[in-house]
Amino acid sequence: MTEFRLVESKEIVMGKLGHGCDLLEELTNITTERCVKLGRIEAIGAVQKARIGFYNQKTRIYQYYSFDYPLEITKLSGNISLKDGKPFVHAHIILSDESGKSFGGHLASGTVVFACEFMLEAFDGPAFNRCFDEDTGLPLWSKLMDS
Ligand code: ZN
Repeated sequence: MTEFRLVESKEIVMGKLGHGCDLLEELTNITTERCVKLGRIEAIGAVQKARIGFYNQKTRIYQYYSFDYPLEITKLSGNISLKDGKPFVHAHIILSDESGKSFGGHLASGTVVFACEFMLEAFDGPAFNRCFDEDTGLPLWSKLMDS
């Protein structure tokens, strides 16, 4: 079932991540420090190595792929909501190699920053909560229309 809600911008945080930090963990740290329960995130830059996931719809298990070499972050796009009551960053990333070939998927921890510029926009309003979704096996937003 399609569900949505109107949100309003509350604040925008713009900055760079530290060299050598874990991309997903650092974005989650900033989100937690700023108490962001609802928002969106984007970033560009480069990584020293990467780990991304692909959700197998048949087995309902994430398959992870690692790239142990430098890549550009062509695009990182994601959102912030609550999972188990805590701020949760869900981000997808497109990475490109020295020949311009791109790879993409679900950002996983184990992706190490070389340089990264990010923007995080927090929204006002009730948080979106992730709950187990029977149709997909994924923790998706639920009951958006209730509040
Ligand atoms: Zn994902």
